[in-house]
Amino acid sequence: MTDDCLFCRIVAGEIPATVVHETDDTLAFRDIGPKAPVHVLVIPKAHHQDIAALAAADPALAGRVLASCAAVAEKEGLTGDGYRVIFNTGGFGGQEVFHVHGHVVGGRPLGPMLSI
Ligand code: AMP
Ligand code: ZN
Repeated sequence: MTDDCLFCRIVAGEIPATVVHETDDTLAFRDIGPKAPVHVLVIPKAHHQDIAALAAADPALAGRVLASCAAVAEKEGLTGDGYRVIFNTGGFGGQEVFHVHGHVVGGRPLGPMLSI
């Protein structure tokens, strides 16, 4: 738990979130500003700042985060049409919350991978 981390505070129950999936060490909740009909954030409950830090510190947990992304896609009915999982990383990656999170987005055609 990192006191000044928004997503640690969601894990601690201090800030409300709409949880759609939970395991012993991962949590998935709806993004507050959805960019697609389905937009869910998947995090490890433990604080790691980004996907590289998580993979270095606990690769097995990184795998369970990915498994939770897949479970969310299944639960949200995205597997037939397909979906996207995005881990924004660092400044150029557009990361705003420095607690690693996968964006699971889908429910409509998502267009090209990057808009320029
Ligand atoms: P990123 O830019 O990859 O760091 O993404 C951060 C995401 O967190 C954005 O898509 C925000 O809409 C989302 N977000 C910020 N605050 C909250 C919150 N309290 N509950 C759910 N999602 C949030
Ligand atoms: Zn955190």
